[in-house]
Amino acid sequence: MNHWEIKNRIRKRVAEEEGVLRKVAPLNVALCHPAPYEVAMSSLGFQAIYQEIHKHPLAAAERAFLPDNPGEYRRYRVPVFTYENERPLSDFPVIAFSIAYELEITGIFEMLDLCGIPILSGERTARHPFILAGGPLTISNPAILFPFVDGVILGEGEERIHQFLDLAAGAEHKNLRDKLALLAGCYVPGVSAEIPAPCRVLDENLPAASRILTKNTVLSSMFLIEPERGCSRSCAYCVMRGPRGGGMRTVPAEDVLRRIPENARRVGLVGAAVTDHPQIFDLVGGIVESGREIGISSLRADRLADHLGEEFVRLLAKGGYRTLTTAADGASRRMRDMAGRNTDERHLARTAELARLAGMSRLKIYEMIGFPGETMDDIEELIRFSLEISKIVPLSLSVSPFVAKRNTPLGGAPFEGISILESKYSRIRAGLKGKVEIKPDSSRFAWIEYMLSQGNDSAGLAAMNAWRQGGRFAAWKQAFGSL
Ligand code: SF4
Repeated sequence: MNHWEIKNRIRKRVAEEEGVLRKVAPLNVALCHPAPYEVAMSSLGFQAIYQEIHKHPLAAAERAFLPDNPGEYRRYRVPVFTYENERPLSDFPVIAFSIAYELEITGIFEMLDLCGIPILSGERTARHPFILAGGPLTISNPAILFPFVDGVILGEGEERIHQFLDLAAGAEHKNLRDKLALLAGCYVPGVSAEIPAPCRVLDENLPAASRILTKNTVLSSMFLIEPERGCSRSCAYCVMRGPRGGGMRTVPAEDVLRRIPENARRVGLVGAAVTDHPQIFDLVGGIVESGREIGISSLRADRLADHLGEEFVRLLAKGGYRTLTTAADGASRRMRDMAGRNTDERHLARTAELARLAGMSRLKIYEMIGFPGETMDDIEELIRFSLEISKIVPLSLSVSPFVAKRNTPLGGAPFEGISILESKYSRIRAGLKGKVEIKPDSSRFAWIEYMLSQGNDSAGLAAMNAWRQGGRFAAWKQAFGSL
């Protein structure tokens, strides 16, 4: 794909979008996601910040993404450019990155490097863009970003971005850093004394909702809206858990339904614990009975089994669900109790039954292995129980290794080890062969994620070295080995 083919591909994507915002403003922000377009444009947080920047009287946002194939950009010397006006990132006074999780850090390196912008903030000068970071990663471990960014807005950034834009519209680079450090919930490397508590938006500014609809995303043409934010539960491994996240904040069902545009044929309800919303029946009923398809980001098995029941799952089926997806997040009862996950076999078995009764073709369960203290007995329990479920309805298991996150009760827990995880995967595959579909996440990538999630700025520098050495696993091992 040459220079023109790259441009044409992006023009085609923009032509297929509905709801793009365009504005002439004194301050232009390149709003970047270090993931490819089809993933990034399914991020409600990214779309929310896009709209907030446009609401500011002095600012406009143009979007840019990690190229699908950075090698092509490099070969034809094409810089990463924005979708709205095809301007390279280096033309902007401010580049704002929204980062979901640790492994996306290499996308930042790639995007800056393709534009000739030094990756390390210490190598940039006042003529370079100011680089701001935000997004979900900032709740758990923003420290790995510090060598590369000029400032961070931690947590929910929809309100704080306005104050940042007020400052950025008038300030020089250095002044901007000093002033940003004074804002609550913001951190400026080399200026701020300590990492502050994350920002939290006022309830009256919820819900976030999509602006741009396009078929070219993983959630094809789905209008996303957030009927609740946060979670009132307390799973010991989760950064969204109640006490730190401020619990669950809900938006009345009628407000959510009123904001769904006429032309949205598919609606996604996004949130950490959507089925805990007290009006979830009204929400789902309102959407499905209007003839739309529905998607829900988080279906809790205990809520489905004990409260919502058959009528609710039939509504989901009417709204287009063919696979019911839930999470167990622990191989055995013992592991789930240890992790504070109040899902038991009875809930999962009843959820399987509800999926079958509603005519769905499959149940998918997210599992986590490798919690502290887990043994092969726990894995055997997972196999035994999965076989039982698969007799009720066809089952898929999506299995990922436990990666401890900072700012959670299990924050400092060790990583299981790649070879032990692989032996557990082997046992699960053998035990469920031909009966249950298994989708295991890479234990190597999980180890890299763990090293980044537990590390500080030197782990960020190690990630840069690994990326510079080609990003293969051996490069990551070597980079972390030298810490
Ligand atoms: S894992 Fe889910 S249910 Fe548990 S605290 Fe996190 S968001 Fe809530």
